[in-house]
Amino acid sequence: QPDPTLRPEARAEDADRALRPQVLGEFIGQEEARANLRIFIESAKQREEAMDHVLFHGPPGLGKTTLAQIMARELGVNFKMTSGPVLARAGDLAAILTNLEARDVLFIDEIHRMNPVVEEVLYPAMEDFELDLVIGEGPAARTVRIELQPFTLVGATTRLGLLTTPLRDRFGIPTRLQFYTIAELHEIVTRGARLLGIPTDPEGAYEIAKRARGTPRIAGRLLRRVVDFAVVEGGGKISKALADNALTRLGVDLLGLDGADRRYLSMIAENFNGGPVGVETMAAALSESRDAIEDVIEPYLLQQGLIQRTPRGRMITQKTWAHLGLNAPQPPDQ
Ligand code: ADP
Repeated sequence: QPDPTLRPEARAEDADRALRPQVLGEFIGQEEARANLRIFIESAKQREEAMDHVLFHGPPGLGKTTLAQIMARELGVNFKMTSGPVLARAGDLAAILTNLEARDVLFIDEIHRMNPVVEEVLYPAMEDFELDLVIGEGPAARTVRIELQPFTLVGATTRLGLLTTPLRDRFGIPTRLQFYTIAELHEIVTRGARLLGIPTDPEGAYEIAKRARGTPRIAGRLLRRVVDFAVVEGGGKISKALADNALTRLGVDLLGLDGADRRYLSMIAENFNGGPVGVETMAAALSESRDAIEDVIEPYLLQQGLIQRTPRGRMITQKTWAHLGLNAPQPPDQ
């Protein structure tokens, strides 16, 4: 089993919370999304209306939940949070919706995993702030319409492609979140170290940023681990040598790849001759779900140019052969 602290999708709420930016001005990176949100928030406040529905999509740990919380705070409204898989029945969603106050933000994580019956209830709620509920059963059943307070739905998904078109179309503000640059992660780590009360020199912070897989959640986790080493072995300070040593001992390599990433790449290299190999085959070979491979492992490897997607499957690149310290097979002679 991979170390859960290194997985971007594994949430450790206490650890995350202390480092979470509270206002838009503290949020580092995602320039474009942030600039747009600032305008939409300000406009909604001036018009005294609920802000339009927002859909955040992108890999786990990039700040979807954080941005939703910031939106509520900046709008000066309540923040309610649930997730697609938790809303099993239409009544579960109805109970949440009828308890919202005017202009509240309702955050639904993993919105692509919502039950279709529940999703149907959401359509008129999003569009007209109305709920059509069926009361009773059989011949006595009747529909009642309930007026809702205007609210803002913020949906988050790692898989835009799994959202139904009618649901996707009801979001006025679809926003894609990107992997963070090393410079942005450097700023995030430096801020985090300050919040945790452990000073870091710029090279130490850079070492963590470089190996955080483009993901603030991982940067925060790595930082906490490095802080532990700093406290016990580094005299309470983070330097490049201390960070490098700590991260290597945690099994994070120089590109920030963890055990699951390396297992994936080695599998293609050693068992499939570099590919191409289909995702279903990879899922079976690694005993991972296809979702985990496509949502969590592959996006960063693609962004780093370590794999390519071809019509016949995934292939590793020259960069990967070099990183794994293996020789690429020679192309067959003519
Ligand atoms: P997602 O909902 O996309 O999975 P989260 O919003 O839960 O991601 O973010 C994970 C953690 O990463 C947060 O707890 C927060 O500490 C940190 N984080 C996310 N984005 C930023 C950012 N831009 N600046 C600093 N920290 C961030």
